[in-house]
Amino acid sequence: MVSSLGFGCSPLGGVFGRIDEKEGIRAVRTALDLGITFFDVAPFYGDTRAETVLGRALAGVPRESYVLATKVGRYGEHAFDFSAARTRRSVEESLGRLGVDHVDLLYCHDIEFASMSEVLDETLPALDALRRAGACRAIGVTGLPLATLSAAVERSVRVRIDAVLTYCHGCLSDSTIDGMASSITDRGIGLINASPLAMGLLTHAGPPPWHPAPEALRETCARAADHCLMGGADLAAIAMWFAHARPGVSSTISGMATAADVRRNIAAISTAPRSELLHGVMEILAPVLGLGWQSGRVAEAPQPMIAP
Ligand code: NAD
Repeated sequence: MVSSLGFGCSPLGGVFGRIDEKEGIRAVRTALDLGITFFDVAPFYGDTRAETVLGRALAGVPRESYVLATKVGRYGEHAFDFSAARTRRSVEESLGRLGVDHVDLLYCHDIEFASMSEVLDETLPALDALRRAGACRAIGVTGLPLATLSAAVERSVRVRIDAVLTYCHGCLSDSTIDGMASSITDRGIGLINASPLAMGLLTHAGPPPWHPAPEALRETCARAADHCLMGGADLAAIAMWFAHARPGVSSTISGMATAADVRRNIAAISTAPRSELLHGVMEILAPVLGLGWQSGRVAEAPQPMIAP
């Protein structure tokens, strides 16, 4: 059973800045102690480092006490391989780094960087075979564009998809996940809401330098953070509560680097913010609500018309 708050492991790979491995391991152990059972990782995070650190953190923990998700297909900022052969090899490597004989959930990572036919005819059938062989219990797809994820779900008739993960769409600055939730969950598919803090945008420290958000969104989130500070509150706590309350979501996955993050986020999901503060934040964010960024293959330029 997945916990409603999940532990995102990209920070363990140093994605959000340098991390002390011991502190990362302490964060995982604290999460387990406090009832978080769902861990999300990928070979992409820190060029496999997140999987290695998570594997060390989970060593000796009874396998049935946590639910483990990892991914295939994305191996670097611009490194993708969605082929069946690489998928099989990737899973074998992940299992080795994680120190387990199976994962619970195996996703095709960021499907907007593949062609739909490759995902449907190559990667998903390979994941399906791995599911039947027992290397994973369930399979899914992840990505940013909701339309691409919905299309994959609709068009995957040969292979049953169990879970869909999207990110930065179920948070204070963009809650478009609400509009697609029932189209996923009505099919019996689990919906995972990642990046409740919009990959750091909705924190006082602000996003990492690589964050793809346009300037207007960054500036407005920073103003929302200042507004919270003036009201004696923490924008991250309000954002966590808001994201965790999205309807239809099986689990909300936050990237946590320290045991303090874990404790703060567990407290936040059960503490409703003062309504005037929440309304103030939403008013500030209203002009940039849903303002996103492009992810995936750039549409091919239209072919020039051939003169008759
Ligand atoms: P997030 O939005 O929670 O942002 C994480 C950042 O916020 C980190 O810098 C973390 O240290 C910081 N943070 C966490 N709790 C905080 C708190 N209480 N106060 C202040 N700062 C806090 O989550 P994320 O890492 O963007 O996403 C969560 C996880 O979801 C990832 O780690 C990954 O496992 C998964 N994910 C998957 C995809 C994909 O498959 N394409 C994309 C994004 C995220």
